Amino acid sequence: MRLDELTTGQKARIVKIVGHGAFRKRLMEMGFVKGRDIEVLLHAPMKDPIKYSILGYEVSLRKTEAHMIEVVPFNEASASDETKSHTNTLVESVESHNAFEESHHTINIALIGNPNCGKTSLFNIASGAHEHVGNYSGVTVDAKHGSFNYGNYKFNIVDLPGTYSLDSYSPEELYVRRYLNGQTPDVIVNVVVASNLERNLYLTTELIDMDRSMVIALNMFDEIEKSGDRLNYELLGEMIGVPIVPTVSRSGKGIDKLFDTIIAVYEGRHKAVRHVHVNLGPEIEPGVTVLKDLLKADKIIPPQFSPRYLAIKLLENDKEAESIVSVSDDYNHIIEVRDKEVEEIERNLKEDVTSAIASEKYGFISGALAETLTKGTRQVEKQTKLIDAFVTNKLFGFPIFIALMFLTFWATFEIGSYPMDWIESAIGWIAELVQEHMPDGWMKDLIADGVIGGVGGVIVFLPNILILYLCISFMEDSGYMARAAFIMDRIMHRIGLHGKSFIPLIMGFGCNVPAIMSTRSIESPSSRIITILINPFMSCSARLPIYVLLIGTFFEKHAALMFLALYLLGIVVAAVTARLLRRFYFKADETPFVMELPPYRLPTGKALLRHMWSKGEQYLKKMGGVILVASIVVWALNYFPIHNETRPAENEQTVMADDSRINPENDSYLQMLGKFVNPVMEPLGMHWRGTVAMLAGVPAKEIVVSTLGVLYTGDEEISDQALGQRLKATNPATGKPDFTMASALALLVFVLLYCPCMATVIAIVKETGRWQYGAFSVVYNTAVAWILAFGVYRLALLAI
Ligand code: GDP
Ligand code: MG
Repeated sequence: MRLDELTTGQKARIVKIVGHGAFRKRLMEMGFVKGRDIEVLLHAPMKDPIKYSILGYEVSLRKTEAHMIEVVPFNEASASDETKSHTNTLVESVESHNAFEESHHTINIALIGNPNCGKTSLFNIASGAHEHVGNYSGVTVDAKHGSFNYGNYKFNIVDLPGTYSLDSYSPEELYVRRYLNGQTPDVIVNVVVASNLERNLYLTTELIDMDRSMVIALNMFDEIEKSGDRLNYELLGEMIGVPIVPTVSRSGKGIDKLFDTIIAVYEGRHKAVRHVHVNLGPEIEPGVTVLKDLLKADKIIPPQFSPRYLAIKLLENDKEAESIVSVSDDYNHIIEVRDKEVEEIERNLKEDVTSAIASEKYGFISGALAETLTKGTRQVEKQTKLIDAFVTNKLFGFPIFIALMFLTFWATFEIGSYPMDWIESAIGWIAELVQEHMPDGWMKDLIADGVIGGVGGVIVFLPNILILYLCISFMEDSGYMARAAFIMDRIMHRIGLHGKSFIPLIMGFGCNVPAIMSTRSIESPSSRIITILINPFMSCSARLPIYVLLIGTFFEKHAALMFLALYLLGIVVAAVTARLLRRFYFKADETPFVMELPPYRLPTGKALLRHMWSKGEQYLKKMGGVILVASIVVWALNYFPIHNETRPAENEQTVMADDSRINPENDSYLQMLGKFVNPVMEPLGMHWRGTVAMLAGVPAKEIVVSTLGVLYTGDEEISDQALGQRLKATNPATGKPDFTMASALALLVFVLLYCPCMATVIAIVKETGRWQYGAFSVVYNTAVAWILAFGVYRLALLAI
């Protein structure tokens, strides 16, 4: 609880003071020290300041200041009710004491650092969570929370999005700043990459300006050791006033020491802690000082940020800082002074003030490193340069990329087919058991056809999905994905996007939902929305089972090629859509392409497997949830009303196979629905069962295959054959198979492109903030799917 939330007459004990260092110090000098008791003398809700009594003195604080003090209130009764028995009061004060101990022994920490510096790995090691770790920027798009106990403390840890600075330029930067403003963590853990200090310490200088409690995790320390560089990190820490602890968050080395240090800083007993000023040079410093003094004199501005930090941000014309300062009565004057100072600095330096400040900060960093860092021969860098010479080469880059994608699909299909066979025979065996040992009736049919037929039909694709995820994880974790984005940059420009959009698109091959969420790293709003809208055309892994089924059945000889063609078709449609949107809806706005190329790292097997498995787990969960329910619903819709007990049993056989029957009395609900919609799908060569499968796939695309699984069982003669064979078999009612090569092709194209699954539509609406974009996606994608499937079907009929 915060001090400003107490009401008149309430008593409490002080737990901690948050906010910037100078503010904490001032309050401590006023007597606000942890463990001390305080009483509210006068608190009129609309009135500022509030009067308190502490150590018998009367002090008053502004509401914003009181908000920065965490307290544990005493139990009301023990504070006011004198008639209570003595023991009772004692019990209650013990309770308050415990509450105090608990809050006092909770440390809130926030992980802040550049993209890719290992924040999520550190978070995982510390909290035991299984967040996705990737080797490119923009994976962490939201704050992840975790907590754990260490030493005498409970730690609440949050993994913030990666940022290079604290400008309010990209959504991530803004997010981190607002977090620091609103949540005021007790200790900031600034994660920096040991082998790329020049770049990483820039953010550190901004955090130093903020004057918050901070510890630096010098991460990837294994790499600096390998490279032969030597860093005197203890000296560096003393120089910048922030304790530095080397860590290897991939293996967990140094993590204990890191948390010991955090505790020491929290308890205020670390020797290296000190507030330094990152000197901005004789031209800029006077401007900072003038503004800082104005802000300091103003008591209305909230104390989350140090005046120096706000002053520097104001000089940088930062909108967020302006809005923080705008509560001041003096706002207009402050801005006037700011404008004058900026003008003077720019006149003297002949450079705009923002880049002048940045150069000064880099100067500070170079200076600090010059004294502490001894360069060795840089093994990692050399290796990286060598690989990059090929991978990002104008000539080879693109073919290498295509080859890797092809290899991925080949592995997905070919290697995946072995475990797939095993699972298939296991399911067949279970189905047989059910057939033999269960008494006849609808229950047996439900288990055999609805559950085993439906869920079993999808679960066999688990190996394929795991392999696809393994390949994607490898490309991410090794650093290749960032290169892919790099070589794609020029091509992306052609469709009005830039390289940064490429990674969400590739992620879409896994699942469109996280892919759409990861677009938050794209600075330009229109590029972001375009990237979101074209994402569903990236064929997600939920569509994979359908491809595996139909390609395996009808195009077995050219499987990998067919896969590639389908994925490419999705990409082409996405590209055309992007161009159209750029042309007719969003006017061009290009942000320059800034993307770090992280050094290549051989990902550990453990990390790869963990990432792969976390996805596989989701797949299995879906299997037990939405797919199971959908299978049963589809089965029931197909089973009733024709299987009502009152009907003669001999009817079943013919009805299941028959579809030319005109008498609607003998149709199942599903048949009715499929036949009702089918006229729309008939031009694509679709049989009504295919149509039903498409309809069933709207909530989640996996359900397409499980629906086919349910629809194509029950015929005694061919029931022991795999689903693919059943699709190919001649339908006794029509005298020809339901699926031909041409109609299978049309169905493939349709499934690739039509209406995104429900989760994706929800993600689109949430991320764009407008339901219209979700609606557009449903209508446009379905229309495109129909038109292209129609074209493909007609062409295939001509060709075959
Ligand atoms: P984040 O973007 O800051 O969350 O970074 P991640 O935790 O996703 O890590 C990015 C990449 O760096 C992953 O491939 C990790 O396996 C790798 N990584 C993280 N910590 C270390 C480390 O201490 N040493 C080495 N060599 N690699 C690391
Ligand atoms: Mg991360």
